[in-house]
Amino acid sequence: MEVLTASVGFCLGITRAYREMNKRALAEAPFAVAHQNAGGEFDTLTRIERREPALLADYPGLQELSVVRDVSNLGEGDRLVLGFHGLNRQTKESLAARGVDLLDDLICPFIEKLDRVVERLAKEGFDIAIVGTKDNHHCRVAKKIADEHGRRCYVIERADDGLPSEDGRPIALVGQVTGNTEVFTEVIDRIRSSKAPIKVVKTMCSDSYSRQRTAVELAQQADVVILLDDGGGAAQSVFEVCARVNNRVHRVRSKEEIKPAWFEGAEKAAIIGGILVPAWSVEDVAAYVRTLSN
Ligand code: SF4
Repeated sequence: MEVLTASVGFCLGITRAYREMNKRALAEAPFAVAHQNAGGEFDTLTRIERREPALLADYPGLQELSVVRDVSNLGEGDRLVLGFHGLNRQTKESLAARGVDLLDDLICPFIEKLDRVVERLAKEGFDIAIVGTKDNHHCRVAKKIADEHGRRCYVIERADDGLPSEDGRPIALVGQVTGNTEVFTEVIDRIRSSKAPIKVVKTMCSDSYSRQRTAVELAQQADVVILLDDGGGAAQSVFEVCARVNNRVHRVRSKEEIKPAWFEGAEKAAIIGGILVPAWSVEDVAAYVRTLSN
């Protein structure tokens, strides 16, 4: 059986955060690292905590860093760098007030842009419609920002979900950064063809477009798809776009969950991963799947 792999591991925002933390660590460690919505075995900070050998081979400075799960314990003189999820404004202000030295904020620029765009639109008087999933962190943040400005926030999960109707208040459409890019495009097409008076701002990240496009290409070629599912919104979107073109997509968290029976009659398998799954894990699973056909 031929095994295809997507040549993508960590996304742009995660790679940037690791690279910049490493650069700073080599120059001025020790310091602590933290970000919101952290935790779980796939979290970028958990990998630092675990001192993962493959990660340290690429970014040796990370072994000098400590991971902080609760930043409320930090105080005067503590030195902190924020990871790719950053921290909300109130928490950063509270850290500054307590004398914590925030050395760098490595929030992904796409996440920062979505929050900034939603805030600007809400201040301009727009209700927000966001293509994504209701329980996603970025959609919840968008809703919170809209609430703070007295605006409504609608989450559009499927292409055929009804569009919010006007009732005199202007509406703007954005996308969860890691949302389903195909659904986003279809919703935008519907808005344009129906001439609905909805302002569109494209906020899904470039990694989502390229990761989902690559995944679909592989899913179209392969008989079976194994998705290394990190539990995040990006992996959910990859699953959704692949499931549109291949009905043998299996989501696993590790190679131990893979069942040989899934490959019965298959000539090609594809291995793909979420944004929190490094390239070496994808390759490790691919090597394992190859042994199943020997
Ligand atoms: S998936 Fe996109 S938005 Fe999220 S961290 Fe990566 S590059 Fe940034």
